[in-house]
Amino acid sequence: MTKLQNIYDNSPIIIQNLIVSLSGFNKFNQRYGRIYFEHRKFLKEFESWEKEKKINYQLKKLNEFINFARKNSKFYKKLYSNIPDKPLNEINDLKRFPIITKEMIRENLDEIITIPKWKGIISHTGGTTGKSLEVVFTKEDVMRRMAMLDHFKSRFGFENRLMRRATFNGQHIVPPNQKNKIFWRYNISCKQMIYSSFHTSEENLKYYCESLNSFKPQSIDGFFSSIVDLASYIKRKKIKLKFKPIAIFPTSEKVLKEDKELIEEVFQCKVYDQYASSEGAPFITECEKGNLHIELSTGVFEFIDENSKEIVVTSFDTKGTPLIRYRIGDSIEAIDFNFNCSCGIQSPIVKEINGRTTDFLVTIDGVRINAGNVANLFKNLHNSVIKSQIVQVSKDNIIIKLVVDKRIYKKEYDNQLHDEFLHKFGSKMKIEIQHVEEIEKESSGKYRFIINRI
Ligand SMILES: [Zn+2]
Repeated sequence: MTKLQNIYDNSPIIIQNLIVSLSGFNKFNQRYGRIYFEHRKFLKEFESWEKEKKINYQLKKLNEFINFARKNSKFYKKLYSNIPDKPLNEINDLKRFPIITKEMIRENLDEIITIPKWKGIISHTGGTTGKSLEVVFTKEDVMRRMAMLDHFKSRFGFENRLMRRATFNGQHIVPPNQKNKIFWRYNISCKQMIYSSFHTSEENLKYYCESLNSFKPQSIDGFFSSIVDLASYIKRKKIKLKFKPIAIFPTSEKVLKEDKELIEEVFQCKVYDQYASSEGAPFITECEKGNLHIELSTGVFEFIDENSKEIVVTSFDTKGTPLIRYRIGDSIEAIDFNFNCSCGIQSPIVKEINGRTTDFLVTIDGVRINAGNVANLFKNLHNSVIKSQIVQVSKDNIIIKLVVDKRIYKKEYDNQLHDEFLHKFGSKMKIEIQHVEEIEKESSGKYRFIINRI
């Protein structure tokens, strides 16, 4: 546990709201600077371009980005030393360059990054591959990515920062010993009410509904499974909602059709999906017609080979930790380059985004915790976990298997991890940490981050 978390946990709620808001202000300043507003303006214009013009722009950006990486990243300089330094004539020329993996990033981060860590903004991720992974963004990267996300939301009439927003995320906001039923904190800088996704039990959901009815959010975003649980509760208990959001924007989980319909019925508004991982993948966004558009200004998606659905990504707004032909671990269903969507945006369409798992663990109070949220608990272990797997063997017993990089893994990480899990899954949960040499795969040959045996 960090010092700040300790202070937070022992403060009254009014001070906790202040800490959340201060941290919010800090993020606000990182995200909403000059570059953000300039880029918002550009994206609006870009959207009106014809496909051909967009693809030319994409190629130009790609060439600039590769040159940037060659010049500023030791890792890429070495990796590309045998590849002629001449411009790409088409996106397909990218195939000249090698694919990079998560393990390569984990092992070589110091050589990949183009700015010192202290100058950048560190993002902890790993997703559901069981690796603890740290990447560094420049301030410009963060602002441009934020601009893209907000631009996407603005298409439906939701303006981030200016409108009330309810977020279900994995942020630590409820201390482990809290007795009262307040599972949310307010980030005043973004008009954002943050709801804990660790406490959405059947018993607690009525308090969430009361809070939402008084806050009246204009959008709901965050973990899809938490929003589904909430919607299901509202429907079953026939709770009357006193607000109608403009739209709902889920993040980081696979959006299932039936669940989406349930949410749309309960909240009387549309759900719009979006893909862009925390490592910094390029964007895919859903339009008003329900089609998934590749955002050509943000990067390139390729299939790893002709027969595969697995993708490699090149993401222009990752100047801090350049991702070029990066094997991110996700897969997509067919890209249609020629589809003419009636929404008016000209760009290739993706049939479906796969790869984001729907696996989850269960807290002692019966709350489902999705894989992305579980992966978050590894964030203080830096780049030291090569592979991990979490097995829930019973309602009150979780086993954490770890393959660690012995050069950098510290003994005290075991205790930190144990504490994190205990806080999030309940103090009565038995947490065992096992250090192993290898994680066994499924009989299908597939690795799974989460195995739930209950
Ligand atoms: Zn469309």
